[in-house]
Amino acid sequence: MKKKYVIGIIAIVVMLIVGILSFLFWPPEFKFSKGDTIKLKYGEKYKEPGYKITKFGKDYTKKAKIKKNINPKKLGTYKVTYEVKINGITFKKIRTVKIIDDEKPVITLTGNKNTSICPNGEYQEEGYKATDNYDGDITEKVKITKKDGKIIYSVKDSSGNQTKITRTITKEDKTLPEITLNGKKTNTIYLGNTWKEPGYKATDNCDNDITNNVVVEGSVNTNKIGKYKITYTVKDSSGNQTITERTVNVIKKPSPPSTSNGKKGVIYLTFDDGPNEGTTNVILDILKEENVKATFFVTNKGPDNLIKREYDEGHTVALHTASHDYASVYKSVNDYYNDLFQVQNRVKRITGVESKIIRFPGGSSNTISKKYSKGIMTTLTKDVVNKGYRYYDWNIDSDDAGGARTASKVYNNVIKGLSKNRNNVILMHDIKTQTKDALRNIIRYGKNNGYTFEKITTNTPMVAHKVNN
Ligand code: ZN
Repeated sequence: MKKKYVIGIIAIVVMLIVGILSFLFWPPEFKFSKGDTIKLKYGEKYKEPGYKITKFGKDYTKKAKIKKNINPKKLGTYKVTYEVKINGITFKKIRTVKIIDDEKPVITLTGNKNTSICPNGEYQEEGYKATDNYDGDITEKVKITKKDGKIIYSVKDSSGNQTKITRTITKEDKTLPEITLNGKKTNTIYLGNTWKEPGYKATDNCDNDITNNVVVEGSVNTNKIGKYKITYTVKDSSGNQTITERTVNVIKKPSPPSTSNGKKGVIYLTFDDGPNEGTTNVILDILKEENVKATFFVTNKGPDNLIKREYDEGHTVALHTASHDYASVYKSVNDYYNDLFQVQNRVKRITGVESKIIRFPGGSSNTISKKYSKGIMTTLTKDVVNKGYRYYDWNIDSDDAGGARTASKVYNNVIKGLSKNRNNVILMHDIKTQTKDALRNIIRYGKNNGYTFEKITTNTPMVAHKVNN
C-alpha cells in the first residue's frame, strides 16, 4: 500500500470519530419559562414555571430530572438543576432562584400622631413599636430624631428596607385655669359684722398652682346693707383667663323675736313629752270636741299614728328632743343638735313638715344642764335662733310633772296663772292622766272668761325664760 492511502484512510476515520463524538456531546437546548433567574418575595412559594429541552429537534423534556433545595424561610440565592441523560451522556442546566425581602418594616406609635403639650412642657414619649415581616420585632433598631416640633422614627430591616414616620408635637394650652373658692359662693353677713375672705385656690393644667396670680377685685362694706360682688380673675401663662364670683349679702340683723304681743288673753295649751297611748288620744278627742288647737312638743316615744293625728287635726307638732335624756341632750352643742335632728326627722317623716318650733327639755332656764356642759344654754338659746328655730318656754306651769298629781290641782295651777294682759303659754304633759282629766274644765273656764285658744306657730312671739346656764 502506498503511504498516501494510509494517511487518507486515517484522516477519514478521525473525521468520522470526531463527527460521532460531536453529535453525542452536542448539548441540548434548555428553554426556561420566566427566564434563568427568578426572584421570589419572602413568604412566596416556589412553583416550577415550566421548561422545554430539545436536541436536534427531538424533545427530551419528559426525561428531565429536577433537583432543588430551596429554603423558603431563609433569604438567599438557590439553584434549581435540570438534568437530562441522552445516549448515556448527562447534560445539566441551572436556574437561579433568589428569595428577597423588599417589604418595609411597620412602625406603630402609641398615642396620637398629632399631639399637643403644654408650652412649657417636654414631650414624654408615649411609646412605639417596629415590626418587620422577616426580622420580627425590630423596635430596638428604631432611631429617633427630633426637629422643629417633629419626632421622626426611622428603622431599617436587615434587607435595608427603610420606614420613617413622624409624630407632630404642638405646644399649646387651650385649657382654662380653675379657681376653687373656699367657703360659700353666696354669703350672708349681718350689718356691722366683719367680712373675712375665706380663701381660694387657682390651678392650671400647665402651670399647676397659680393661686398667687389671682387678682381679687371688689370689697364688702359691712356697714352698708347691700349685695357685694367679689371677682377672682386668673390667667395662665398662655393667656387663658378664668373669672369666678362670690356674692356677699350684707343684711340687717333680724331683731330677736319679741316676747310681747299685740294680742292679749290668748291661751296656748302646750303638751310635752308625748305622744303616749291612753292619754294623748284622749286629749286629742277633747280638743276636737271643744274645737281648740294646741301645741305638742314631741319626743321619739309613743306611736307614730298619734303624731299623725295631732298634725291631721290641725295642731302644731313641735320638737322637744328625741331622747329627753338630760345627760345626753346637754352633753355638748353637737349632742343637742343630733338629738333634736332625730325627732325633727321623725316628725318630718310622719307629717312631711320640717318643724322649727322647739322647747328645751327643762326649759331654757334649766340649771340641770350645768352638770353636763357649762354655759350650754347660753350658747344654744342664741344658736337655735340664728339657725332659724323659735323656742318657747312657758309662763304658766300646771306642775303636772311635779306636785300636781290630781286633776283639780292641775286645773287650779292653770286658772290662777291666767292673765288677760299677756299670752298665756301653759306647760302641761300629755303623758299624764291628771292632765287629760283636767283639760276639759280648763278649756271651759277659758271660753267662759273671754280667752281665745291658739296653737303656736313661727309667728307666735317667743316666750323665753331667763337663761341660768
Ligand atoms: Zn319635757
